[in-house]
Formats: sequence, structure tokens, C-alpha cells
Amino acid sequence: MSALLETSALTVTYGGLNANDAVDLRVERGKLVGLIGPNGAGKTTFIDAITGFTHVSSGTAEFDGQPINDLNAAARAHLGLSRTFQSLELFEDLRVRDNLLVAAERRQWYSFLNDMLRPRAGQRAYDEQVEWALSVVGISELADRLPVDLSHGQRKLVGVARALAAQPKLVLLDEPAAGLDTAESQLLARQLRSLLSHDITVFLIDHDMGLVLNVCDDIYVLDFGRVIAHGTPAEVRSDPVVIGAYLGESAGEAQAREGTAHSSHGDRTGSTNGRVR
Ligand code: ATP
Repeated sequence: MSALLETSALTVTYGGLNANDAVDLRVERGKLVGLIGPNGAGKTTFIDAITGFTHVSSGTAEFDGQPINDLNAAARAHLGLSRTFQSLELFEDLRVRDNLLVAAERRQWYSFLNDMLRPRAGQRAYDEQVEWALSVVGISELADRLPVDLSHGQRKLVGVARALAAQPKLVLLDEPAAGLDTAESQLLARQLRSLLSHDITVFLIDHDMGLVLNVCDDIYVLDFGRVIAHGTPAEVRSDPVVIGAYLGESAGEAQAREGTAHSSHGDRTGSTNGRVR
């Protein structure tokens, strides 16, 4: 069966720099796929490129069997692509439920006809979507709270629920665990796995290696815009290229263990360690 999302040589160039450089990546239906890499590796750029928030310079992306390069962000959302942003912006004067309601309304050109003919039916459907998204993420009890009254972890979960409110086929999460403590991160991990049983495929970027290695079925590693490794968590964890470039073992240790030449990314190792838990 074809992948839900597949890119081929996807390249995004910013002023001469390839933020994504010929990225080949597949996200199979019903899987939780992770994308990791050092700061500035191009992870957010990839989500931007897939969801229509930046221009693809060359290469292709297909979603659900359909080329999406020429579609704008709204058209991609209609196809079933949804995302979160690193900086979580909730409407502070709206209750959690209403924050989700805004996102639930995937408007079609004929929506106004529906609204005229069956006004209550449309609203009921949106309400149900919101209740569903809250329950899938396990935060139904927060529905009537204002964002200002929530902890950072709860706000992050509201952000994930909001991305689900339009009932996407694929949700792309940009650092949902940033700023969460261990308990909150473990709760998030359980909720992300549970999305798969609701027919939602998940694509996850995060610096919390415990989270990514524990929850993902499949992981891609990006460095300087290029995919440097791909495999199961166990394969990625033991890949000397990944260890040298990213996972925190010093280049010298990797060299000694593998008997290989010195990694060219050794100087980046120290700077990324601070963000890898
Ligand atoms: P982080 O882990 O810090 O969030 P990242 O892996 O998500 O980093 P990106 O944010 O995708 O990395 O950035 C990749 C590269 O592209 C960086 O060098 C960044 O400075 C550059 N970049 C990102 N967005 C733009 C933009 N809109 N214009 C110009 N350069 C950009």
C-alpha cells in the first residue's frame, strides 16, 4: 500500500542554504514517525514544506496518493493535514472548548448552504469533533477552563487537541514536549500512541529523546538538511553516524568504539547536548 506521506528529493532553499536537501521520507499509515536532528537541521522547515507554510524549491511531496506541491496551506488542511507550531498560541479569552471549535471548522465553499439548510446539524458536528479531540488527548475535564488557568503541560495538550479538532489523517507535531516535565512528557507519549487507534497517523519532531525513542515506530535523522539515518528506534540509537552527529557520544568515543575515522560533526556534538535529555 502506498505511504500516507511520501517525499522525493524535497528541497527547500533559503538564500543559498538548503534547509531541506533532497529529503526522501515516507510516513506509513497508522504509524508514529519521528524526525530528530540538531538545532537548525531543518526539522521545522520540513513541516512547513509539507503543510504549505513555505515554498518547496525542488522535489515532490505526495499526501494520500495526491501531489501537494501546488496546493496552498488551506487546501492541504482540507485533504487532512494538520500541524502544531513551536510557539503555542491559544486564544487566551476563549475557553478551551472554543479554542478547539475555531479549528474544527474545516470550511468548504458550500458550507454556507449547509448552514442555511441545517444550521443545528453543522454546529452539532463541530461540537462532536471538539469533544472527540478533547477525549482522545485525555483532557475533556479542561473543556470549560480558560488557557490562563492551565499549566504549561496542559496548554501543550490543548495545542495537540486543537490540531486534531479538524479530524486530520496526519498530524505533524513540532516539539509538543518542549517545556514539559517527565510526568507530563510520559502522559503525552501515551496520548500520542493512542491517536493511532483513532486512525490518525502521527509525525513528531522533538528534542526529548526519551519521548521520541520510546513512542516512535520509525525515526528519520536530519543533519544540515539531509537525512543521515533512518530506521527503528533501536537502529537509530546504535547508528554510529547518529551518535557522532547528534546523540551526544563524543566523536572520540564513537571513533574508538567503531574504529572509524573522526566524525566531521564532532564540533556540533557539544552544542546539541544541552537540548537532548
Ligand atoms: P530547531 O531544532 O532549532 O527548531 P530545526 O531543525 O527546526 O531547528 P529549521 O528551523 O527548519 O531547523 O531551520 C533550518 C535552517 O533554515 C536554519 O539554518 C534556519 O536559520 C534556516 N531558516 C529557517 N526558516 C527560515 C526562513 N524563513 N528564512 C531563512 N532561513 C530560514
